[in-house]
Formats: sequence, C-alpha cells, structure tokens
Amino acid sequence: MKKKPLLIYMNPKTSGVKEFHLSISKIVLMVVLSILFIAFALKYSVDFIVDFSQNSKISNLKKENDLLKTELKGIAEQITTLRSSIDHIEQRDDQIRTMLDLPAINSDVRQVGIGGADPDVSSLLSSAELSFGGELFDNLNLLKKLEREIRLEKESYQKLLTTVERRQDSLRYLPALKPVRNAYISSPFGNRIHPIRKRLHFHKGIDLATNRGTPIIAPADGTIVMAGRNAGYGLYISIDHKYGYETSYGHLRKIYVRKGQRVKRGDKIGEVGSTGLATSSHLHYEVRFDGKPLNPMDFFLDDESHY
Ligand SMILES: [Zn+2]
Repeated sequence: MKKKPLLIYMNPKTSGVKEFHLSISKIVLMVVLSILFIAFALKYSVDFIVDFSQNSKISNLKKENDLLKTELKGIAEQITTLRSSIDHIEQRDDQIRTMLDLPAINSDVRQVGIGGADPDVSSLLSSAELSFGGELFDNLNLLKKLEREIRLEKESYQKLLTTVERRQDSLRYLPALKPVRNAYISSPFGNRIHPIRKRLHFHKGIDLATNRGTPIIAPADGTIVMAGRNAGYGLYISIDHKYGYETSYGHLRKIYVRKGQRVKRGDKIGEVGSTGLATSSHLHYEVRFDGKPLNPMDFFLDDESHY
C-alpha cells in the first residue's frame, strides 16, 4: 500500500490529536489555491492604493486648475488696465509730437515686430489641451505686444526730450533782441545806394541810428569771434551764436568784450559810434545764418525787458 502524507494536529488545551490523511493532489490543489488567493489579494490591494492616490492627485490638479483659471482672469484684467494706460501714453506722445512739429509714430511702426508668443510655449499649450490654453496664449501675445509698445514709447519720449532740450537751447542762441533801444532804421536790409560810395550796393544788415555812446547789447547767448578794427566797419564785433547764427556790429565807439569771450543775451558789448565809413552815429547790425546774410528785422521780438 502506498503511504500517504499524514498531517497531525494536536490541540494544546485538550492534548487531543487529530490526523489528516493528505493526497499529493490535495496538497498541490491547496498550494495552487493559496497562490491564486494571495495573487488576487495583492492585485486588488495595489489597485485600491493606486486608485486612491490617483484620485487624490486628480482632485489636487482640479484645485490647481481652478486656481490657475482665477489667476488667469486676474492677469487678463491687469493686461486690460495696462492696455488703456499705454493707449493714453501713446495719445500724449502724438499730442506732444504735434506741438513740436514732429511726425506722429505711424501705427504700422507700432505693430512691426509683433511675432506673437514664444513658439515653444504655443506648441506646449496646444499639445497640453488645456481648457484655457487659448486664453493663455492670447494673453501671452498681448503681453508681448505691450512690452514692445512700452519699449517704443520709451525711445520716443527720449527723442521728444532731446528735441525740447535742443529747441530750448537754440532759442537762447537766436538773435531775438534789437541790439540798441530807441533807435530808428536809417537804412534797411537789401539793395540800396551806398551813402558814401554813391552806388548800388547790397546792404547785408540794417543801420540803427541812435546817439553816440548808446550801449549795444548781445541779442542772444554766444561767443565773441572778433572784436577790433575791421576796415570800413571801424570798431567791429562779431558773435557766434551756435546752431549756425552769427551777428556783427560796425562803427562802434567802444568795445567792451574780447575775442573768445562768452556773452549772455542782454550783456553790454560796446557803444554806438561812427568809426570807419560812417556819416553819422549809428550801428550797422548784421545777422547771418550759415554765412548767409538775413534781414535782422525778421528776428526781433517785442521784448524790452533786457534793456
Ligand atoms: Zn550799414
């Protein structure tokens, strides 16, 4: 007779003994069933844990998503506020340009170079299939546009400032005052018969007739480029006013300035006389721009505060 494996169970309390006769096939079956049971138990518990953690991840992501949507809404509102501020700045820019006779910035120029958001970002957004991807993309584009417009405005304002400073400066150098007060024009600018030479002659300036010794004032800021005798002009002064303007003064009785000296508008530079080719006491006064004589009368402003 074939021996079967024997399983003996002893109850520790009663010291009773039980015997179980086991066949090989029963043992194999039990082992297989146990393995299957353990395998199923493991699988379900792992699934449960994974589901649990994924669910909590999803709910966290949902929360994050909601938060991002709220943030995005806030950002979009801020962009709208910025947009209207920049519109206002651009309008002011146009107004100032009109005041300064500068051309307005072309609207095409304001648009140039707007290439949209970073291509990496846009492809990431389209692949991520975000519910608010489109909105985010639009806002990124708007921000890029604003960034460029702000840069453009910064450059434009710098240019406006430089223009204003230059104009203010050039005004100080414009020969806007009559160099003598209470004088009358004894000889105007242009063609005339020369009072001494008695022939047609182009008068490059005006003659301001007034008393001998009347002070002559500088009509604008500048630097003395000549102070001394100059043939028929007698005692003579010439001032360089920068930006192309030069003024000169003839027939003086006295000169108060030296070559190279800087003068301010209103400074006394000499006295009216009749030195050189002059029949009576008067000031021969010239204004030149880039060497070309201009009519000094065109520059006079009615401002007597400097005399
Ligand atoms: Zn003259």
